[in-house]
Amino acid sequence: MGYKLAIVGLGGMGGWHYENITKRIDEIDVVGAYDIREEVRPHIEALGLKCYNSLEELVNDKEIDIVTIATPNDVHKDIAITCMRHGKHVVCEKPVTMNAQELEEVMAVQKETGKLFSVHQNRRWDKDYVIIKKVIEEQMIGKACMIENRVQGSRQAMHGWRAYKINGGGMMLDWGVHLVDQLLDMIPAPVVDVYADLHALYSEEVDDNLKVMLKFENEVSAIVEVATNCFINQARWHVIGEEGTAVINDWSCNGQIVKLNTEEAMEWADAIVYTEAGPTRTMAPRPSETTINLPLPEATSDWTDYYKNIVSVLDGTAELIVKPEQCLRVMKVIDAIFKSQEKKTSISCCI
Ligand code: NAD
Repeated sequence: MGYKLAIVGLGGMGGWHYENITKRIDEIDVVGAYDIREEVRPHIEALGLKCYNSLEELVNDKEIDIVTIATPNDVHKDIAITCMRHGKHVVCEKPVTMNAQELEEVMAVQKETGKLFSVHQNRRWDKDYVIIKKVIEEQMIGKACMIENRVQGSRQAMHGWRAYKINGGGMMLDWGVHLVDQLLDMIPAPVVDVYADLHALYSEEVDDNLKVMLKFENEVSAIVEVATNCFINQARWHVIGEEGTAVINDWSCNGQIVKLNTEEAMEWADAIVYTEAGPTRTMAPRPSETTINLPLPEATSDWTDYYKNIVSVLDGTAELIVKPEQCLRVMKVIDAIFKSQEKKTSISCCI
């Protein structure tokens, strides 16, 4: 059976959902769209889609099974609730809502209506994430202790509504939500401490560069970093484990694992090394024969698997991958991040 889908908000990401589903998901037909801006409507018609004049008109269309919400963040909650109350399954863009309390309201309606509700946390299918998850879960560098998950750009841009607090703008809710979601998906322990350092370097009212420290109950710590003002990038992922280090340098997933060569004797370790910067023993580079360089594990991943999972859940053959409860944890961590920023202190928690 094919499912009929309509999109609310046919901007950048709504357009991507249209293309991706139409070209690559046979089991779903995109049949309509609604956008609040009248100037988008000729574009909707040009795509051969039903063009709704209001959200009400869309949700009253009995043909529609699923609604994908790709509007600015501040209206996700109300649109999701309206859709589910009218019997529609909902895929909502990230960040699912502005905060955890809003998501709890959405989840109450999901429970009451029994409709599918999921969040497009598509970056769980990014290749770099799939590789790092494998490195950590398979303990390829022993137990992971310190994980750095960052994205750095230099375009100094908050596109459109992202510049405004009222719309849920800023980089914490834009990219930060992906990076927190990845860490919570990967580390099987509650977050017990959150410290945030958010900056507005060029934005008037939202964060545009940030660093967050998360401590997990299993002693793993993680740094989340998002920069839009960084001209020399650090590694996309940097993970220190008890037996080695794994790095993914860039968007092309170049990187490596370096582990101890435990066969080698350690006599050299006491020698002081005279570097250009000054003498050091503890921090001096190792002789190369004392380590082993390994390639990162192979990984294949495909963003379309997100919608394939939605189809399987509706068919009754699979469990939902991106669950509302997981997103609630993410939003609770984000609430703690904003609280830490406001109070200028770390926040103890159990999330
Ligand atoms: P955008 O500004 O390009 O598009 C938003 C569209 O929504 C616009 O066309 C706007 O007219 C329309 N809109 C606004 N309010 C509306 C309303 N009440 N009802 C109907 N339409 C409305 O923004 P975007 O970059 O496409 O972002 C949209 C959503 O997608 C955001 O939640 C964003 O965080 C998310 N997003 C996710 C990813 C990802 O990788 N998952 C990437 C980009 C954006």
